[in-house]
Formats: sequence, structure tokens, C-alpha cells
Amino acid sequence: MARYTGPVCRLCRREGTKLFLKGDRCTSGKCALDRRSTAPGQHGAANKKVREYGMQLREKQKTRRYYGVLEKQFVNYFEEADRKEGMTGENLICLLERRLDNVVYRMGFAASHKEARQLVLHGHFTVNGKKVNIPSLIVRAGDVIAVKETSRSSEKFKALAEAAAAQTAPKWLEVNAEAFTAKVATLPAREDVDFDFNEQLIVELYSK
Ligand code: SF4
Repeated sequence: MARYTGPVCRLCRREGTKLFLKGDRCTSGKCALDRRSTAPGQHGAANKKVREYGMQLREKQKTRRYYGVLEKQFVNYFEEADRKEGMTGENLICLLERRLDNVVYRMGFAASHKEARQLVLHGHFTVNGKKVNIPSLIVRAGDVIAVKETSRSSEKFKALAEAAAAQTAPKWLEVNAEAFTAKVATLPAREDVDFDFNEQLIVELYSK
């Protein structure tokens, strides 16, 4: 399945929640969801009864879209989460949180997951000193993520570093915006993820 390239605000309207896919616009008065909260399409405003399966499906889609992951990749993450010890749903969220593009976003060096993915794809980041251009790379505790030396002097990255310095990073990441680096202090725990996921619904969906 190809990556979705249509208008992303439709996705927020479909899920009925802000997925923060457009960076600064999402927190401005221009957010499409704030202006029109109904689902997109001709029958979007209709008051449809949502059944159990529908709720599970929407939760899975919401999570998948928030992290910008394709269906097949998402299933792979679920299977990996299921193989690990502990709660599958929590493992799933923690795994998604460890994707390199998400780490760049959490560092504050991108305004959205999409921008983070783009920056990683263009080779602007290193992991433990090695250039990496794989957004789906899963970071480990102790990894050091940094902006590539040659990218640091660009106006864009100077502005991103300033934005990152003004932002509070999650406690599992030690961000040094002035040095353009972040260290994965510990692996993220479910309570570190500040977004309203109901991962149990996803587990129920895939367990049918
Ligand atoms: Fe979603 Fe951002 Fe668009 Fe608002 S502006 S609907 S949060 S993508």
C-alpha cells in the first residue's frame, strides 16, 4: 500500500482528534479540526452508531496515522510487541515511540512526524556517529542521535535547534539542543507517551 499523500487534516477529522500532522498549524487557530470537527465526506456529519469493531478499527487507524506507519509495518510492530514480555498494547506503543523519526520529533528537531521522516530520509541525522537514513530504525537505550556536522550550520537547523531548546523533551531522552544531540537515557515507558491511545482496543482488533 502506498503512503497517503492526500490532505492530512482529513485524517484528523476522520479520527475525531488532533494527530498533529501539520506542525505549527496544529496549535494555531487555523487547525481544520477546530473549525470543522465532523468526519470528512458527504455523510461525515451523520450521527452514525459506532459498533465495537468500528471503535477498534478507528483506534488502530488513529495510532497508525499518528506515527505515519503503513498497515503492513504496523502489523509487524504488533507481532513484535506480542512476542515481547509484558502487555502487548504497551509494548506496541513503546516500540513505535522508539522509531528514529519519532525520536527526532520528540527531540524537537521537527515540527511533525512527517518533517522528521523527511529529515531522516535526507540523511541529516547520525546514530552513534554513523549516518542513518532509515526513519523506521528502532533506537536502543544509550544510543546518541545527532544532527550531522555539515547540516548544523544551515539556517534551518539553527532555527530547529532554537525551537528544540524551547521545548520540553520526554524524560527518556536527554536532549542537548545546543550540541544538536540527544541520548536515549532509558527506553520509553507507556506513561511517558503523552497521547490519548487506547492500545487495548488495538490488541482486541488483532486478536480476533
Ligand atoms: Fe490535524 Fe494539524 Fe490539520 Fe489540525 S492542523 S486537523 S491537528 S493536521
